[in-house]
Amino acid sequence: MLLRNLKIWDGVSDEISSDYDAVLISQGRIKKLTSADEKVAGVPTRDYEGCYIVPGLIDAHIHLCLDPAEMDPFAHGKVAVDLQLQHMADRAGLMVKAGITSARDLGGGRWLELKIRDRINAGEIPGPRLLCSGQPITSEKGHCHFWGGECTDVNSAQVVMDRQIEAGADLIKIMATGGSITPGSRPVDAQFDEATMVAIVEQARAKGFKVAAHCHGVSGIHHAAVAGVNTIEHCSWVGPNGWGADYDEGIAALIAQKGIWVSPTVNSGWRRHIGNANVQKALATRFSRMRKAGCRLIASTDAGIPNVWHHELSSALAVFSVLAGLSNVETLRAATSDCADAIGLKQETGQITPGLSADLLLCDGNPLQDLTTLQKPVQVFSRGQEQLG
Ligand SMILES: [Zn+2]
Repeated sequence: MLLRNLKIWDGVSDEISSDYDAVLISQGRIKKLTSADEKVAGVPTRDYEGCYIVPGLIDAHIHLCLDPAEMDPFAHGKVAVDLQLQHMADRAGLMVKAGITSARDLGGGRWLELKIRDRINAGEIPGPRLLCSGQPITSEKGHCHFWGGECTDVNSAQVVMDRQIEAGADLIKIMATGGSITPGSRPVDAQFDEATMVAIVEQARAKGFKVAAHCHGVSGIHHAAVAGVNTIEHCSWVGPNGWGADYDEGIAALIAQKGIWVSPTVNSGWRRHIGNANVQKALATRFSRMRKAGCRLIASTDAGIPNVWHHELSSALAVFSVLAGLSNVETLRAATSDCADAIGLKQETGQITPGLSADLLLCDGNPLQDLTTLQKPVQVFSRGQEQLG
């Protein structure tokens, strides 16, 4: 299929392409960038006069099993499997219609998201390409222990890890600190000491798996940085002085030096912080210090937690841009090419370039000038398949 008369942003460049205005896709892949004038015999064409095209968006942190309308973190585990699978398929369907063509699922208890992943891959149901961690490794009664990943030491962590690998996980998730949604767990507290974190991450790496670490507190962030995880989720800098108050220059430098990506899970609800002078300034300061230190940011929402909907990445991006002080193009990279790089999908998606999967979002405004235009896609292609209309 030839998509013509488009203004193309390739996922990397500072500007819209001045060389091409058409994308040829074949067998689910981007075959080439070309000109609308080019005649390609025997290929159906779609005319998108006036539209912009960008790579499909990527959310680096979601939980497909969680219902954002449910406030009780234990509730989803009690939903019957068939019904839960239907809910999860519905959420995946809404995500891809909203232009999210890939996502990383960072935890569930019953590996149902892996089933959804496989059904999407088989073309049975619509949805984003998923990378799934399965049960996160956590401490006894630690953050999200109800998902079944509790351990007490390196050996028992290995048992949990092997269970995820056996179930078909794509990566390993570890809860380096406590979290807000688990009763009895405190975001500030590290759940493992440094040596344990280092050993667990080494084991994962030896088995060929990337590691995402949930980190709110500063000591947990430090352990994750020393261990060399691939992504630090949240990175909230919680310390004795409160939420976000204990930013540490040395740890940020270590994160940058090790090439660890920061996935700050800014959801669209953070809009409430915009205009709240103190909070907005504190967030902006923290983000700008991290970026000055060389930390690279990717887009993520933690979708599934209360009031954070799975298909709202594009509205989150507008908020992320303001709070993190990112230009529109930097924000777009954080949700496309950079995100693909961070989560290990660079060879598959995240750019409009020949050979990659035809994951594409079309909108009728210029997202380099206005990110909100992403919220109303004109069309979405996922692996070359039209998702709308
Ligand atoms: Zn999460």
